[in-house]
Amino acid sequence: MTQPPEPPSAAALDDDDAVRQQLITGLLKIGLATRHRAWQGGEALGLSPTQGQVLVLLLSRSGKSTRIGDIATELAVSQPTASVTIRALLAKGLVERVTAVDDKRAVDLRLTPSGRDLARQALGWSDFLLTAVDDLDGAEQAVFQRSIVKMIRAMQLRGEIPVSRMCPTCRFFLPNAHPHSPQPHHCAFVDAPFGDRQLRLDCADFQPASAEIAEDRWVQFVAAR
Ligand code: SF4
Repeated sequence: MTQPPEPPSAAALDDDDAVRQQLITGLLKIGLATRHRAWQGGEALGLSPTQGQVLVLLLSRSGKSTRIGDIATELAVSQPTASVTIRALLAKGLVERVTAVDDKRAVDLRLTPSGRDLARQALGWSDFLLTAVDDLDGAEQAVFQRSIVKMIRAMQLRGEIPVSRMCPTCRFFLPNAHPHSPQPHHCAFVDAPFGDRQLRLDCADFQPASAEIAEDRWVQFVAAR
């Protein structure tokens, strides 16, 4: 198990390493609280945390083709773990197999009506994070969102988390298309400007940009303030 870093002494408050350690301590505390709530929330619904995550994922992908491989990729779990979880959810009558719309030989997974109900309840366990985010004002939320996007991209590039369907790697993302505006970016899909606070991390309309374009747009995004 990851051990929390040693707390720095007050004398080290200006030290860069101490600041980084404090950030890591904060992230670990939030991660710990999140895991605890996920266990509590799942237990109350008779689900393991992974089962709860699969239900919520299927809810967010309603109307889209979803196979076991998609679930393993999105949740960063192994294919056997995804298969075992799906088998349990099938046995509970929360998920069903249907013929894939795009390939009659393939099988898609989708929620049953009771699975949909439970998925909506499982979503509720993260409400405590919503309350914490609501304590930030708009400017703080924008800085936080931008920081999260940068951290997620760095982790994606190192293969530490699955690729997110987020704005900076989307072909519709035009960073800093409206410089000096509170909404400097532009989404070409909906043809509308937006700011850092509205950056999407899991957008249903996302389409990946080529690696070259994504890199170019990322440089423009990071340069924009
Ligand atoms: S389509 Fe979605 S991910 Fe792409 S730029 Fe627009 S809001 Fe962002």
